[in-house]
Amino acid sequence: MANSSLLGGENNPMASKQKKLELIEKTWGDCERCDLATGRKQVVFGKGNFESKLAIIGEAPGAQEDEEGKPFVGSSGVRFDELCEEAGLEPWDSYICNVIGCRPPNNRPPSDEEIEVCFGRITSLLGVMKPKALLLLGGTALRAMTGLSKITTYQGKELQASITWQGQVLTFAAVATFHPSYLLRNRGDKELENKVIRDIRLAHGLSKGSSWVEGD
Ligand code: SF4
Repeated sequence: MANSSLLGGENNPMASKQKKLELIEKTWGDCERCDLATGRKQVVFGKGNFESKLAIIGEAPGAQEDEEGKPFVGSSGVRFDELCEEAGLEPWDSYICNVIGCRPPNNRPPSDEEIEVCFGRITSLLGVMKPKALLLLGGTALRAMTGLSKITTYQGKELQASITWQGQVLTFAAVATFHPSYLLRNRGDKELENKVIRDIRLAHGLSKGSSWVEGD
């Protein structure tokens, strides 16, 4: 008898993206691959439009995200939403998620080992979603997705990110920008906020096949 999970599985080209997303969430929803499982309330996946061409990737869930099971719902997420609105990025234009699925204790940065163990989750999400561009929020997302370190060096530049998914190398255009929590710590720094707005526009343009920012 056919296995229903395989019929809707992430390997099945006929299954809809939504069904495949549900399978990924089911597969990783009770994950205990690393120690972060012990302190979390739930594994946090993404929000937004999984059919869009832009994936926005942050670091890891915080307390409110852990509570609600959604990424970027805390105060830094609210600030980021405001900047997206200023950049003309509508909520249905992107899907937003994190490199790591579970909240690290005291919101510390995830270790390289935790990122490596959890990488299959983000790889599955991107492999099924197949965005055209990634917007990487902060140094952890930059390092995890491109191997590059130092957000101040690479912020605002057009980069490339690659993953191997089901034996295929998938390459995406990528833009790195500052993490929303850094923006919150520097609230009122207009220059910084304008850089992020420009980076959001650049990534949005790349997801639509343009490599320039309107108004530059
Ligand atoms: S952080 Fe990732 S690998 Fe670790 S328990 Fe959570 S989902 Fe699993």
